[in-house]
Amino acid sequence: MSRARVAWVLTVVSAMWRALPISALVSLKDWFASGTINPVHPAGLAIFLAAIAVSLLLKRSFCSWVCPVGTVSELLWKCGFSLFKRNVRPPRRMDIGLRGLKYLLLLFFLWSILWAMPPEGVSAFVYSDYNKIADVRLLDFFLHPSGLALAVIAVLLVLALPVRNPFCRFLCPYGALVGLISVLSPVKVTREKKTCVSCGVCTQVCPSYIPVMRQERVMSEECIGCWRCISHCRAEGEGTLAMKLTGRRVAVNGLLFALLVVGIFWAGSVLGKATGHWHTAISLGEYIRLIGR
Ligand code: SF4
Ligand code: SF4
Repeated sequence: MSRARVAWVLTVVSAMWRALPISALVSLKDWFASGTINPVHPAGLAIFLAAIAVSLLLKRSFCSWVCPVGTVSELLWKCGFSLFKRNVRPPRRMDIGLRGLKYLLLLFFLWSILWAMPPEGVSAFVYSDYNKIADVRLLDFFLHPSGLALAVIAVLLVLALPVRNPFCRFLCPYGALVGLISVLSPVKVTREKKTCVSCGVCTQVCPSYIPVMRQERVMSEECIGCWRCISHCRAEGEGTLAMKLTGRRVAVNGLLFALLVVGIFWAGSVLGKATGHWHTAISLGEYIRLIGR
């Protein structure tokens, strides 16, 4: 790859750099290439790997149980529902097209980081001054947003009132990644046809607009493991709609599911700290020097 092209890739990734998950993806590649975890932002990598582990085992539950953006978004569309007595769903084709945007963004990041960026470029970027204070830049972005950033955030917040989870469903490449990984999860929402009364409530309440009532096992990568369909099921008794392991016999208890999501995430940070991969090696003096430039 030519120097110019490497520079271009780095510039593009740099422009998108404000999100530390992207930094974690670069660190992951750096880890595979060098065999060691770099000490610049090791906590970011630990959190990233914990999110991957949660998705691998427990669907895309990171989005509904951990992610703060998902939490705010859920609050907003519920407020919107209370205000307008309904949520607005884009026409089916437009909805599919919009959902595709996050996969395009993910594809771009995966291509530019895992494919186009050479190992020496990754290392140079990880140890660049820009990356060293990526966490401070991210904080600064939220504490002192530009006019454009404020406008974009305002549009997304307003849009999240009538539309269910527009950022998560249409734009978040992180959600796209954990969604694709969640397809491998052994637990899935499973419907028992014999006891289902075909009321359609599960389909109505699903924030991802998955037609739960028409499926025996929800395989969709859009399922965020929120349990709304299960908790709203109108069938008598328990078990018509459940989160079941592969084989469809064993149902996972809701409390256990929640504890596992939080526990795996917490274990990621404990493991990171125990193995010395949590705190950054950037000294306070270096932070002050780089920020003051
Ligand atoms: S309501 Fe059910 S099917 Fe829809 S996202 Fe939540 S858990 Fe998945
Ligand atoms: S909410 Fe329960 S009873 Fe109603 S359609 Fe869905 S699975 Fe069947």
